[in-house]
Amino acid sequence: MSESREKVSVLISQEELQKRIKELAQEICRDYEGKDLLLIGVLKGSFMFLADLLRYLPPNTAVDFMGTSSYGASTQSSGEVRITKDLEHSPAGKHVLLVEDIVDTGLTLRYLLDTLRARQPASIKVCALLDKPARRRVRVSLDYYGFIIPNAFVVGYGLDYQERYRGLPYVGVLEETGESSNDAGDGDASAGER
Ligand code: 5GP
Repeated sequence: MSESREKVSVLISQEELQKRIKELAQEICRDYEGKDLLLIGVLKGSFMFLADLLRYLPPNTAVDFMGTSSYGASTQSSGEVRITKDLEHSPAGKHVLLVEDIVDTGLTLRYLLDTLRARQPASIKVCALLDKPARRRVRVSLDYYGFIIPNAFVVGYGLDYQERYRGLPYVGVLEETGESSNDAGDGDASAGER
């Protein structure tokens, strides 16, 4: 009997991620020189990216988190966003950099930007690791981004599928093979192998 099986093929390697994150951090350091920066990570997917980015930023960089979820099926954004965890401190008067894992339709980011702008930060910019422009539904501009990716469902490096795969050190495309689990594989990296 054939049984559905998931496979993850590497899209962005650990080395590529780390190199690009270092470059982004250098850009951010230059742009915010002399200013106190507040990173706001969007949970849960951005936690690894934020942690690695933060390692290259000055010691006065503050961190806070927001949690969001969108109503609807797990791999499709429904357009309705709600806050599941709010900030611990007010961002009023702060230079805010919103750190996102991935921008897909743009609806989450649009909602977060509207919500945060209403709280009157001194400035607000966006840093997203992954940009998936193919499915964009609202116009949002990314001040910093790591990689533009094709229209595929990706996991790893903080991103999950049903709470799995977050710990992978790379970003991979999740594929359903529909084959039995006895196959030898064709050279693509499988989850857990790297
Ligand atoms: P948007 O509101 O831009 O459509 O999507 C925002 C959220 O949807 C992301 O923060 C992420 O949690 C989730 N998302 C969108 N595309 C993907 C994807 O390819 N993989 C995973 N794991 N999550 C995604």
